[in-house]
Amino acid sequence: MNIDHLTAITDEELKNAQYFHGHKCPAMPQGLRAGHLAMDILGVSRAQGGGELQAIVEIGDHHFSGCFADGVQFATGCTFGKGNITKQPLGKFALTLIDTATKRAVRVTAKYERMKVCLDMPFFTLRKSGVPPFKLDPEVVEPLIDDVVHRDWKEMFDVKLFDEYPVEKHEETFEAVECAHCKEMVVTRYTKELEGQRYCLVCFDAQAFRAKD
Ligand SMILES: [Zn+2]
Ligand SMILES: [Zn+2]
Repeated sequence: MNIDHLTAITDEELKNAQYFHGHKCPAMPQGLRAGHLAMDILGVSRAQGGGELQAIVEIGDHHFSGCFADGVQFATGCTFGKGNITKQPLGKFALTLIDTATKRAVRVTAKYERMKVCLDMPFFTLRKSGVPPFKLDPEVVEPLIDDVVHRDWKEMFDVKLFDEYPVEKHEETFEAVECAHCKEMVVTRYTKELEGQRYCLVCFDAQAFRAKD
């Protein structure tokens, strides 16, 4: 595959991403690499508004290398708050990035062989024995991070291109009301009407399933 421009991870980006992430580990930078690779292949830049890119990560919950997803968020600008990243909890180390304007997309997956080699390294054997990542000797972590940041992407990832990926567009709403029962603000799309009153979904259930007075 020919890629016009391949983005290198700068020391500054790595440092900022590590601050955002909270500790130094190899999986977060792996997410940075996957995010930049996907953007380079699609020829797009980092999401600003939110709607221009959509990301799907296949990380599940509470398993090794979940930190991958934070690197993806930092690199692509697809974030939980902007709502342009979704998690498909499949327990895989994959990112699909979609350019919503052209509907072109790319799925980037970590190569099994490479992941297997990493899992046998001291970083993961120590992590498995219960040592948290921020307590590890920098000598154990730094070479692994350096490797992830600089290794040829072809040794790390497989990529698959899609010319027309299904894109779901969501308009941002500014409509909100006061729930008739708990009096909290709730986005109208997340309310239901009952006997002329608007309720948040929690209060709606309480009203709808309430025993007769
Ligand atoms: Zn981490
Ligand atoms: Zn309520």
